[in-house]
Amino acid sequence: KDENKFARVNSKTIKQKHSSLSKKDEMFEASTRLSWTESSDPNRSSESMENEDEDMQCFEEEQEEQMVSKIWKGFDSEQASLPPVSSTDNFANLSEITERILLEELQKRYSTSQIYTYIGDILIAVNPCQSLPIYAKSISNQYHSCTAWEDLPPHIYAMAERAYKALIGDSCSQCCIISGESGAGKTESCKLFIQQLLRVASSDENNLNNKINQVNPLLEAFGNAVTVMNDNSSRFAKYVELFFSPEGKVLGAQLTEYLLEKSRLVIQGKGEMSFHIFYWMFSGFSPEEFELYGLRKITDHRYLRPLDIQLSTMINQENREKFWEVKECLKYIGFTQKDIQNLFTMLSAALHLGDVTFHPVGRNDAAQIHNMDTLKKVAAMLEVSGVELASALVAEYTMTRGEQIKKEFSVHQANDCRDALAKTIYGRLFSWIVNGINQMVHPAVEGDMTFQQIGIFDIFGFENFARNSFEQLCINLANEQIQLFTNEHMFFMEQKDCMLEGVPLVDLNFKSNQSTIDLFLQRHTGVLAILDEESRFPKATDSTLATKLHQTPGKMYPEIYKTPRDGGATFTIIHYAGSVTYDLRGILDKNRDTLPTAILYTMKTSNSLLVKELFQSKVTRIGSLAPSARQQRKRTTTKSPFEFFKKMKGAKPDSKKQVIVPPYASERKGPSTMAYHFKNSLADLVTKMQAAKPHFIRCIKPNNKKAPLQFYPELVLAQLRYTGVTEAVKIRKFGYALRIKFHDFLLRYEVLSRCIVPSYAMTPDDNNVKQYCSSVKLKTIRWGR
Ligand code: ADP
Ligand code: MG
Repeated sequence: KDENKFARVNSKTIKQKHSSLSKKDEMFEASTRLSWTESSDPNRSSESMENEDEDMQCFEEEQEEQMVSKIWKGFDSEQASLPPVSSTDNFANLSEITERILLEELQKRYSTSQIYTYIGDILIAVNPCQSLPIYAKSISNQYHSCTAWEDLPPHIYAMAERAYKALIGDSCSQCCIISGESGAGKTESCKLFIQQLLRVASSDENNLNNKINQVNPLLEAFGNAVTVMNDNSSRFAKYVELFFSPEGKVLGAQLTEYLLEKSRLVIQGKGEMSFHIFYWMFSGFSPEEFELYGLRKITDHRYLRPLDIQLSTMINQENREKFWEVKECLKYIGFTQKDIQNLFTMLSAALHLGDVTFHPVGRNDAAQIHNMDTLKKVAAMLEVSGVELASALVAEYTMTRGEQIKKEFSVHQANDCRDALAKTIYGRLFSWIVNGINQMVHPAVEGDMTFQQIGIFDIFGFENFARNSFEQLCINLANEQIQLFTNEHMFFMEQKDCMLEGVPLVDLNFKSNQSTIDLFLQRHTGVLAILDEESRFPKATDSTLATKLHQTPGKMYPEIYKTPRDGGATFTIIHYAGSVTYDLRGILDKNRDTLPTAILYTMKTSNSLLVKELFQSKVTRIGSLAPSARQQRKRTTTKSPFEFFKKMKGAKPDSKKQVIVPPYASERKGPSTMAYHFKNSLADLVTKMQAAKPHFIRCIKPNNKKAPLQFYPELVLAQLRYTGVTEAVKIRKFGYALRIKFHDFLLRYEVLSRCIVPSYAMTPDDNNVKQYCSSVKLKTIRWGR
């Protein structure tokens, strides 16, 4: 990027967006950004102001393209081209289907860069692992103006169009479920899907589109990391809802995040890194910022010291630009200078906290803080008392019969306590950012307004590592749930329809995974219920938990729950995608997810408004602490999340199901465990999916090397099987892939219909058509091979 232009644009953006910045904020910015000086120059000519207007427009256009630019960079619009329409575009039309044929066709298509394929109305997307010239605006337009699905080759834009047209045509909410392994292309697909919707349904009010576009770089900075599977792997799942006016214009958005992998902050596996933002900070901070946040070298911090990656390579120009971009996005979305400074203070505090170490003292080897100066630095940044924080990190205090009892921690326990605090800070900060984003992009609700919506799930795929713990258990359970939903939708609905309409059933080699869901979720006897039960006992251990699990769900579901031979603290589940062995060590603590009361107390009494807000027990809207005038204005027109959801769903709000802010563990009545919240999130997810018409996108990873044009049939076949694609092909084909409601058919193909329906149904009166349709068994017209 042209640095000068960037600087000019920045100053203009900031001037426009933050006209209400306090003098102090401005001074802070001036000290931290060299380019900032320009905006405070009173002698600027009007010409330069005009230039800025142009630049601003240019900046916004750039932002509009930004989301996709990364994956089609290297191509300009003139080079944009689509592959030709081909007979294998929809596998439901193949005359013969076997797994081998499926694979061969998919591989052939892939070798000619036809990465998208339909199976009926499901889209398969094989990751090209290279930029393709198929995402330009001109191509968006082609899909938008195309009326027949088959006239253009399969594309993610076509899926977005389909959802959009169904939203407008049927006035019914839609959801898009994107699934696949890590690195298969889910997040990119999600971006492209949203991009198409924003392009065709932009209302451009308050620069809403641009704001929504800015959300991705932010989420990626704080929620993505380098993993062995993917250099930009999302370490959380998300649900993005776009709200539309009756005219089909985008009015706003809402984002929900699930299951952020907080543990990555404190430890990373081999070949893996922490969240991007840390490396970007160290690349992009000015000397003044380093000073301000008490940071020096990236290698100074234990949390960022990877096992086998040269850290110095992470400090580079690219990351420096990314850091600038993040700051720009934060400002553009509406975070104030003060918010941004607070945010980086918290991140730095978490890093310094990780450097606090302990050593054993006395007869009982109680933990004592080794480096008090580091602890003081942390306390200063969190604006809490150093003495209080220090004592809260090394001992637990309980009240028994009016007497306070101090129980000293071992070094190991103190380490855990420190890491738990750092993880909590990071996790809550992430929610704080997401909530800040939501405030800026969600639509203002006035009166009895209701919205149609298109929701998009970007959920991380099935995981099976050498050691699988609570995180994998949750992720895999979420995948089972999605699989069940997909199965129910595709198979059972299809079969039911076929039966009702007299289409002969095909023998499907298909097994429901309902029992796996029950195994985990059943009340009282499910794995999660037992985990919660055990978490309530302070004396419970990994092996007491294991015994209970082996005895209850283990005995109830012997075909999918395998007890280890030695009866130890592991169990194996035969998932739809393969068997996974879970290690129960430490799972109780992870589930409790509690911070010692003394730590919570220390945080709640902080002088920092942000820290207080992050650790408050009452869940309110989290966001800007010092709202600008513009934001304040906006807030007055916006109802509370409670009201917002009531309006949105037209249903009774259920406080448990509100997902605006993930409920904070240890501070709520009732179970406050991770398992409990996870169960709620899952229920919420299912409710959302069931309330909308689903569209499925299956992402496939063709190789494990992130290499273009390499297609490993074995690897792909495994994915096709466990995402149910092979079965989907069969059922689609035998159930006739293309279909339309009989009622719509009569109206649309009136000429053809004349010879088959009584004349009274063909009068222009829609009621007659409806009446006729309800009198016959035929509900859908299907065709296909
Ligand atoms: P997932 O979310 O499934 O883990 P991502 O969406 O992050 O995977 O994709 C992993 C990488 O694959 C991306 O960083 C990008 O380099 C590449 N990729 C994915 N989809 C596409 C696409 N449609 N075109 C080009 N590259 C892609
Ligand atoms: Mg992802």
